[in-house]
Amino acid sequence: MTTTLDLTHANPNAPVPAAAAGNDAALDTRLALIGMTREELAAELGNLGIAANQQRMRVSQIWRWVYNRGVQDFDAMANVSKDLRATLAGHFSLGRPEVVSEQISNDGTRKWLISLAPDEHGARHEVETVYIPEQNRGTLCISSQVGCTLTCTFCHTGTQTLVRNLTAGEIIQQVIIARDRLGEWPELLAANPDAPESGRYITNVVLMGMGEPLYNFDHVKDAMEIATDNEGLCLSRRRITLSTSGVVPMIERCGEEIGVMLAISLHATRDDIRNTLVPLNKKYPIKVLLDACRNYPGISNARRVTFEYVMLKGINDAPAHARELVQLLKGIPAKVNLIPFNPWPGSPYECSDWETIETFAEIVNKAGYSSPVRTPRGRDIMAACGQLKSASERLRAKQRKALQSEAETERAATPAE
Ligand code: SAH
Ligand code: SF4
Repeated sequence: MTTTLDLTHANPNAPVPAAAAGNDAALDTRLALIGMTREELAAELGNLGIAANQQRMRVSQIWRWVYNRGVQDFDAMANVSKDLRATLAGHFSLGRPEVVSEQISNDGTRKWLISLAPDEHGARHEVETVYIPEQNRGTLCISSQVGCTLTCTFCHTGTQTLVRNLTAGEIIQQVIIARDRLGEWPELLAANPDAPESGRYITNVVLMGMGEPLYNFDHVKDAMEIATDNEGLCLSRRRITLSTSGVVPMIERCGEEIGVMLAISLHATRDDIRNTLVPLNKKYPIKVLLDACRNYPGISNARRVTFEYVMLKGINDAPAHARELVQLLKGIPAKVNLIPFNPWPGSPYECSDWETIETFAEIVNKAGYSSPVRTPRGRDIMAACGQLKSASERLRAKQRKALQSEAETERAATPAE
């Protein structure tokens, strides 16, 4: 049975008077600590009068409490003096964005709708994060943007215009919120007799939620630094996969500077078909894209590039396409992930028949490429690949101005605490 927990009744686009925001985010003038790089945090500590030769040590201490232990209160930081704890608490916030709803699929997949702090215009936007438990691992699918600038015709997110990029904090908070809700912090795990032996519910993270991560490169990079740091969230770079629709100029930098595993949303073997499915192909056609993959920094047989291929009935699923795919991938350490198309309201495609998918997989497999068919997960709660979309829409300038002045009026009318 599908379960939905409606955690608030907020209208996503309504300006939120500070006091009504779940964590009083708009009233909170303190700096959000989660998402700051080590350097940014050190600089802020410098502003608070902490001597330069102490800043690194203090950053390490704070990071361990926040990211290794999940504490939400400076008072819990036992190895920090009481005075400094009070100073930190006056300057920084450790709050989480609000989880508006949690849906649990009949296959155990969970989807959280997260309401972000109001932007500078007072509008609140939302993103979705999905957790997919499997036998021996748990994958968290996170978003990098609200909406997407690209308009892939088979993707639900693509029908929602780009609202805005997420900040590094908003990207990493998705992992933190998932750890909160799954109970994946040391103290909670220790108290849980059913906790997994590895101590991890989230073993893998994929940037395959809403948005194109390579169009929000700097924030994704900062967030992944925190995700992979030993004093951060301690995830291995090899267990993080960034999926791109093919933003060729950023692929090399992704390998050099972020160093995570790469997945490419290929979906077609001919430019004419890919131009329709992934319009970005007109700018960066298949050959150019595959050359960038061939040269992906760190690529090897142990670190293969994943090619995602959505199975669309009568469009890209013929045996001839499978043979073309094998030819295209020659010389690239690659694996292929076949994704049965997940329908959404009004979607213009159908999923290929099961036999067609099997025939396709067999051809790719016989050529020596691993080609698992991704089992659709969480379809009943619209949590499967390409089904994510939040109600946030980009506001027109006029609407933004109206919201802003409403929010300001509300703020002025709210008595200070
Ligand atoms: N923007 C990035 C990452 C997010 S999409 C990208 O495009 O790669 C994550 C994956 O889901 C991509 O491979 C995307 O092509 C696929 N996808 C999108 N819509 C889908 C749908 N309706 N059914 C199945 N897969 C879909
Ligand atoms: Fe954007 Fe990826 Fe969806 Fe294309 S498939 S519209 S790039 S989220």
